[in-house]
Amino acid sequence: MDFSFSEQHVAVRETVRRLCETEHRKLVVAAEETEILPREVFARWGELGLLGVRYPEEDGGSGLDKVSDCIVREELSYMSQGFASSWSAHSHLGIWPIWKAGTPAQRERFFRPAVAGRKIAGFALSEPDGGSNIRGLKTRAERVAGGWKLNGSKLYITNAPIADFLLVAARTSPELRGDAISLFIVELPAKGMEISKLRKEGIRASETGLIHIEDVFVPDDCVLGERLGTYPVILDSLSENRVGVAANALGMARAAFDAATAYAQERLVAGKRIGDYQAIAHKLAGMSAEIEAARWLVYYGAWRVDQGTLDSATAARVKLVASETAVSVSEQAIRIHGGAGIMREYPVGRIHRDALVYVIGEGTSEVQKNIIARDLGFKS
Ligand SMILES: Cc1cc2nc3c(=O)[nH]c(=O)nc-3n(C[C@H](O)[C@H](O)[C@H](O)COP(=O)(O)OP(=O)(O)OC[C@H]3O[C@@H](n4cnc5c(N)ncnc54)[C@H](O)[C@@H]3O)c2cc1C
Repeated sequence: MDFSFSEQHVAVRETVRRLCETEHRKLVVAAEETEILPREVFARWGELGLLGVRYPEEDGGSGLDKVSDCIVREELSYMSQGFASSWSAHSHLGIWPIWKAGTPAQRERFFRPAVAGRKIAGFALSEPDGGSNIRGLKTRAERVAGGWKLNGSKLYITNAPIADFLLVAARTSPELRGDAISLFIVELPAKGMEISKLRKEGIRASETGLIHIEDVFVPDDCVLGERLGTYPVILDSLSENRVGVAANALGMARAAFDAATAYAQERLVAGKRIGDYQAIAHKLAGMSAEIEAARWLVYYGAWRVDQGTLDSATAARVKLVASETAVSVSEQAIRIHGGAGIMREYPVGRIHRDALVYVIGEGTSEVQKNIIARDLGFKS
């Protein structure tokens, strides 16, 4: 594969880097402490066209590609995974299905304002009884006059405490078949929907909610695509987003590596830079190789999305490798820092906490291995 970033890709990267350095960096420290994401970042991302990089211009996007989307993710994640996770839940999970399968009216009412940063979106799939077994989800949708009534609960939903609307997955029949699962667009606040904010160890700057759903009415025109059985859209969305969050993981791995390299250059022990001890230099060498491998996989995955040839097993491989790389690299970065690695004034502890989120969210590493094993012909 002949691969290099185009001038446009480089320009996207520079825009996000500048935004992070000049505007976001000062917001991140407070957001991590207070666990409150400043809402205004969505408007700023919208203004710069960063929420819609991978969507066509005629739909309100910036008309670029998945490679650009991954560049935005990598750079935001380099600065703050909290910010980047909220960006991801909004600009992919909460709106991609609407772009892909929504009616023209739903695109106009939800997708366009979200891409412009005027509305915040989220995606509510996971439930208290298990996030890994999505086909077994229990939230029910019952037919009522003029629409549907939802009952159930959702857990660990990114952006739920700040969202203007959520895409909620619910079952329209008790049968454990994919075509019994559909997506419902719920505008917030909604009568009967109670959202409580969760306190987290990782990605503290991103707001995450537990949702109690009791007799929430959804009109017919807010059923995604005004049709039932949109489970395949969920699966396609998750596959593409696995490549996306792999780029998030890459950004975190790079940030941890850069911090560790800087520390290894300046920290003296017994009169010698620690980087000149072979044990530390070898760690850094291995970390740089892991990151390079993850980078190639991430942008290969993005390229496959742009070619329209991404399959679920490839997405799983990309996500598995990149997320485990972020965990491994950030852990080694802590070790290189010694005691300083445990101190909050250094970023590596936070990066490691944040990296652990991505061996769980978007399907755990075990779930990715199940997908890959099935691709290899095993039942798993
Ligand atoms: C910070 C954060 C943000 C999130 N944001 C969202 C969001 O915006 N929207 C959303 O819908 N969800 C979201 N999630 C939920 C996330 O997708 C789930 O946490 C994840 O899918 C795992 O589900 P679970 O937590 O219920 O773990 P469980 O399913 O209970 O799994 C527990 C353990 O069992 C293992 N396991 C389960 N089944 C199998 C199996 N078949 N084979 C092998 N091992 C298995 C898992 O790998 C894991 O190690 C978020 C999670 C976090 C932590």
